[in-house]
Order: sequence, then structure tokens, then C-alpha cells
Amino acid sequence: MGSLNVPTRASLLGRIEAQAWDLIVIGGGITGAGVAQQAARRGWKVLLLEQRDFAWGTSSRSSKLVHGGLRYLKEGDIKTTLHSVWERERLMREAPALVQPQSFLFADCAGRKPGRWLMQTGLMVYDLMAGQRSHFYAKLARTRELAPGLNPPNLRGALVFLDAKTDDARLVQRVLQEAQTDGAVCLNYAAAFELLLEHGQVTGVTVEDAVHGGRYTARARAVVNATGAWADRLRAHLGAKPMLRPLRGSHLLISHARLPVTQSISMMHVKDGRPVFLYPWEGCTLIGTTDLDHQGDLNTEASITTAEVDYLLDAVNDQFPQAHIGRADIISTYAGVRPVVDDGQADASKATRDHVAQDECGLITLTGGKLTTFRLMAQDALALAAPHAGKAFARDKAVLFTPASQHPQWSAPVRERLQARYGRHAASWAASATPDELAFVPTTQTLWVELRLAAQNESVVHLDDLLLRRTRLGLLLPRGALDHMDRIRTLTEPYLQWGDAGWDAELARYRSLIARHYGLPMR
Ligand SMILES: Cc1cc2nc3c(=O)[nH]c(=O)nc-3n(C[C@H](O)[C@H](O)[C@H](O)COP(=O)(O)OP(=O)(O)OC[C@H]3O[C@@H](n4cnc5c(N)ncnc54)[C@H](O)[C@@H]3O)c2cc1C
Repeated sequence: MGSLNVPTRASLLGRIEAQAWDLIVIGGGITGAGVAQQAARRGWKVLLLEQRDFAWGTSSRSSKLVHGGLRYLKEGDIKTTLHSVWERERLMREAPALVQPQSFLFADCAGRKPGRWLMQTGLMVYDLMAGQRSHFYAKLARTRELAPGLNPPNLRGALVFLDAKTDDARLVQRVLQEAQTDGAVCLNYAAAFELLLEHGQVTGVTVEDAVHGGRYTARARAVVNATGAWADRLRAHLGAKPMLRPLRGSHLLISHARLPVTQSISMMHVKDGRPVFLYPWEGCTLIGTTDLDHQGDLNTEASITTAEVDYLLDAVNDQFPQAHIGRADIISTYAGVRPVVDDGQADASKATRDHVAQDECGLITLTGGKLTTFRLMAQDALALAAPHAGKAFARDKAVLFTPASQHPQWSAPVRERLQARYGRHAASWAASATPDELAFVPTTQTLWVELRLAAQNESVVHLDDLLLRRTRLGLLLPRGALDHMDRIRTLTEPYLQWGDAGWDAELARYRSLIARHYGLPMR
């Protein structure tokens, strides 16, 4: 119910048919955002369509690690590891505070795999790829200092190394912002409904406005299908055989005070030897993840199961046996579906995480892969789209993010936070923020002003857009942040203009959503 900036949305919808597009990108996750950004920067006329909210799909439900991919190294995939390490370094350099270094600690326990020497060899190669030495072996006393309470059976030390973390939904938003600055039109709640075909080639799509219900026809020289786990659905319009294996991964968020880690504790699950981790994220401790074939309807949000909750709690309590973390400690949960290309592996965790870029009748499908390598993936898609779009294309290493602006009166933590989220717009958008708005929401690293700025500038249509993706307060605070609703409403209602009935409807929708998909499953 309700929408922000109706004139702006209306004017964007009006442009769908008025313009001949070079490229239509379907899907507003990190993959689609990356393609839109790379194309718009090259001067292509780009329209991006997202059926729900930006990052509503997997790109707000990942483990939020911008990682070099140690697991690819273990599987001998040097190329993927190298690309991931380089992209990680680039993102940390260009978007510091949005993509931040995170120290990882892997407990070395007598009798458990992988042993110290295997890990150390892998980490040496990993460091070589990044061109720096970041790993070391911590003896038992040092391990206990670095991770108080860590006490798995037979602990004798730990390997410590560096990787990076982010806020995935904000990364998408920042990439979209760059694309928009370069002229891309990006619409949420606008689904590509049907493919338009001429002489067997895809020449556009019909678009359904999920806010007001209108239908539009968008024509383009090239169309990219960046719909992640949904990619087979659009391909089915061309009669193409399915190629994806949807795999669900779920996470728990608990209060940082209950498990106050500063390191990311990385481990192999005692039951099945799968990698699992927990780490400090946005003022909470995040625990993940699982890897299971997902049978549910993709258009219904995925949810964690009781078995997954127990599996993740077992992992934590194995590493921190005195912490006794239980269901009562869980603030929220979330689940996402990986768009994994089906390579016939029996074990889901061993299925390839590589991406696919392919051209079928002018529909360029780009799926699989991960957050970290979105820039390289986008260039693969544009290489295929360029001949259709009648454009010259060359891969490049141009800077992704334009430098962030700042305000002289901001403290360092406020500056970092705003620059990470709003980049070049940080100073102009937040210049009028009051001291109250520049305070942190208790127990989180979120500034109150982020709510207002989202409502004002970031195409918020529903309350869950505001609380689950523009900010993450719905995940970070008990009861989905409902206890703060008065202040949230005061800050945002001048811009959302929902009216009393609209707020009531949004609250009812949000309550039901968080109860069904972001809490604990019923036993
Ligand atoms: C549990 C889990 C943990 C992960 N952890 C990490 C990690 O730590 N690091 C990492 O690098 N990667 C990680 N990944 C992988 C990464 O999250 C995904 O590869 C990435 O988010 C996929 O992005 P995407 O844009 O391709 O798909 P999505 O984010 O799903 O975006 C596709 C979008 O297309 C939209 N769409 C579908 N059909 C239509 C249509 N007809 N019209 C318009 N829009 C449509 C959907 O609504 C959706 O928003 C993880 C994945 C999972 C599931």
C-alpha cells in the first residue's frame, strides 16, 4: 500500500515506452545492478526492472561476505579465487566502510579437519594472490584473547586471516545509485511479464506496474535476464530447458551482547563437515549458513526450518560450549535461495558457484556466481549484449564508485556510515540532518537519519523496503523494530505520504511478513 514520490515513479513509468532502450536489464539484485552500472557508464541507454523491491531476492539474504573464496582454492579453482581476491581488494579500496575488512579465526583442534598445515598452505596462496601477508597462527593463549569463550573440544590454537564483509542490500543500492547517476532508469515493483519476440529474437518486454497495475511495452536492442534463481522462468518463454538448482541458505541473528565476537569464527560443522561461520555484523552476531535444495515457490519468501535453526545452534554451541545459545537468544532469521547452476552434484555444498552468461535468441542470461564478482560478471554479459545493442565493447578496470562527499561537522563514525551508504550524495542528502538524527539507533550501527533519507530518496514503496533492505533494522532489532515504530513514522511519513489508513495497512503487511519469514518457525 502507498508509494513514494508518485510523480517521480509516474514519470519514470512514462519513459518506459517513450524511449528506445539500448539495454533492458531484468532483475534488481547485485547482478542486474552491476550490468546496469557497467552499461550506463559506457553511455548505453539502460532500463532496469525489478518485480518486487531492489535486492528483494537473494542479494539481501546472503552471508554478506565479500570473500576471496578460500573454498574455491580448496577445490583447485585458482581462476575464481584470484578474481574474487582482486575484486574484494578493489571493493574495499573504492567503497571503504561499505566493504570492510573482517578478521577470521579458524580453530585448530586436534583430530579435526582440515589440519593446521593444510589451512596454512591454502592461506599462504590466498595471501600471495592478494599481494599481502595477512594470516598467522595464534597459539592457544592468543586464541583465547582473540576469541574469549571459544572452546571447541581439543582446541590448541587458531589460524587467523583477513577477508571482508558488507551490507549486501546497501551494496546493491550503491551500485544502482551509480547506474542512475550515469542515466539508467531503475524501477522497483515493475515486473517483466512477457518477452517480445520478432523473427525469433527478443526485442523487449511487457512490464507490469505492481504498484498501480498498469501494463507497458518496453523495446530494446538487447535484454539481459539477471533474475537470479528465477532465471529459468524467463528462459522458459523461449522453450529453454531449466539449468538452475535452487539451494536455500538460512541465517540467525542474535544479540552481540550474548556472543560478543570481534572475529569471524569460521568452522567445519561437527555433523557434516560443512563450512559454517559467525561474525559481528551491524551490532548483532550473524550465524550462517545452510545449503539445502529449495522446493518452495520462489515468489514466496524463503524461511528457515526448525532443522536449520537446530543445525546452526549446534555449530555455535560446539565452538562456544559455555555460551548456551538457544532459541530464546534469536532476534531474527532469514533465508535466501542461491541461483546455482545444476552440475549434477549429489552434495549441494559441492555444486559449482561459478556464473553462467549465455545468449539464447537475444536473451542474455547472467546468473549463478556471487556478490563479490558482480563487476566481472556484468562485463561477461555486456560482451554478449554488445553486438545486439550495436555497441563496441571492451572489458576495462575503470573505477566503479565515484568518490563519496562529506560534511565538515560529521564525526568519523557518522562520516563513514553516510559515505558508505550514499557515496557522492552523502553531503547533499544528509546536510540538514539534526544532531538527533545523527545518533545511532540503540544497539545498532544505524543512524536515525538513514530512515528519513531512504524515505526521501530511495524509492521506498512498502514498510518492508524501509526496514528490511534500505535499513536492516527489521533484522537487527527484536520484533522487527516494531517497538520503534512511532519514531520511524515521525521521521518518514512526510515523504511516504501513506496517510493513516496506508500506515495501518503497511503495518499489518509488515507484521505478517516478519512473523512468517523472519522469525522462528513453529515447532
Ligand atoms: C544463503 C546465501 C549466502 C550467500 N553468501 C554469499 C556471500 O557471503 N558472498 C557472496 O559473494 N555471495 C554470497 N551468496 C551468493 C549471492 O548472494 C548471490 O549470488 C547473489 O545475491 C545473486 O544476485 P542476483 O542479482 O543474481 O539475484 P537476486 O538477488 O535474487 O536478484 C534477482 C532479482 O530478479 C527479480 N526478478 C525475478 N523475475 C523478475 C521479473 N520477471 N521481472 C523483474 N524482476 C524479476 C527478483 O525479484 C530478484 O530481486 C550467497 C547466497 C545465499 C543464498
